[in-house]
Amino acid sequence: MSRRHRSGDGSKGGRRVRVEFRSNRAARRRQKGLPAHLVPGVDDTDKLATPLQETIAPKGELSRKRTVVETTEAGAAGTMEGTVVAVRGLVAEVDAMDGQRYACTVRRVLRVRRIHERHPVAVGDRVRFAPTPVKGSAPPEGVIWSVLPRRTQLCRASEREAHLIAANVDQVIVVASAAQPPLKPSLIDRYLVSASAGMMNAVVCINKMDLDTSGGAVEVLERYRRIGYPVVAASVVTGAGIEELRQHLAGRSSVIAGQSGVGKSSLLNAIQPGLRLRVGDVCAESGKGRHTTTTAQLLKLDIGGYVVDTPGIRAFELAMVPVGELEAHFVEFVDRVAECKFADCTHIHEAGCAIRAAVERGEIHAARYQSYVRLFKERCGLVPAEEYEDAAYSRR
Ligand code: GDP
Ligand code: ZN
Repeated sequence: MSRRHRSGDGSKGGRRVRVEFRSNRAARRRQKGLPAHLVPGVDDTDKLATPLQETIAPKGELSRKRTVVETTEAGAAGTMEGTVVAVRGLVAEVDAMDGQRYACTVRRVLRVRRIHERHPVAVGDRVRFAPTPVKGSAPPEGVIWSVLPRRTQLCRASEREAHLIAANVDQVIVVASAAQPPLKPSLIDRYLVSASAGMMNAVVCINKMDLDTSGGAVEVLERYRRIGYPVVAASVVTGAGIEELRQHLAGRSSVIAGQSGVGKSSLLNAIQPGLRLRVGDVCAESGKGRHTTTTAQLLKLDIGGYVVDTPGIRAFELAMVPVGELEAHFVEFVDRVAECKFADCTHIHEAGCAIRAAVERGEIHAARYQSYVRLFKERCGLVPAEEYEDAAYSRR
């Protein structure tokens, strides 16, 4: 709570405004009608992400309005808005409107409020911070006062607990390869479920199309295109699909996910040579000289937008999706589940199941259904989690 509020007078520093209580909590709608309540953790995050300057209006019975002190006026401690582009220990690097990058600490109250999260702020977070004076030509510094509500969250599961890797990521570019390593559509499906659970859109990209001698990869891409995903057939060797990928990335915040060896680094390098190199320079620039781990960072693209770069990005997976909500993340199931005979149909064994009927008619691809069954059984603990070659790597 700000000092201003404790003194009980909000009228001096900021302007009191009445806002619709539900306006920033209204159910969010996805393109394909997935209700926001199906996304675990979102409500909770909303609560945590409520800007600190906000207070509930003291009068009125269960008023749907709350009083907010606008912080844009002079006297509101001169805070600025920015985007967290890297987190190193307790220091968050924030790109501000003024074009500068600030090394920010996080107010203690904010750390306490977010005690259940390993990091009170994540890359991609929009924050409000107060710049602090620095000596001489030292890089700019500041203190983060509040984190604005998150639109999306990219989580990584570890030991049954989900960790937020990045916030406000618009889309996941799911990268697979036509060969070397072999194409595994079931892995694509896992990433698509995770993207959907985190409220992110997804693009399916198959790289190394130059190695697709049998045409199998073309068929797989067609499978996803048919159910509404944007698809890209790429090859770093022939240059195919690179421009298309660039168009998808431009002006958005994206994460490139996929098994190791499919060519994620090669694709990024084709899109913007030296992208990662330059970020290395930036890290050196912040000059903190401490050996703190970078949890994730946002790489700024010349074409506008950011790419999330994280060592453990491959591990972002399904911990947050309860078994009963799995069906909602298979886009081609969503419109059909209402036709199942039983309202609580799991689509595994029940009579009168519209999903299985659609699989038999060839309207839902059998492999997609198999992915659903596999994930369903995993979530129920009936089968162990599917392991991929780089699973050990991803657990690091
Ligand atoms: P990452 O682990 O996903 O980042 O994959 P890398 O970018 O490191 O690529 C793994 C290997 O695949 C490297 O030896 C690349 O040269 C190779 N590679 C990447 N893209 C292509 C492609 O389009 N075609 C072929 N044939 N090889 C590729
Ligand atoms: Zn069913």
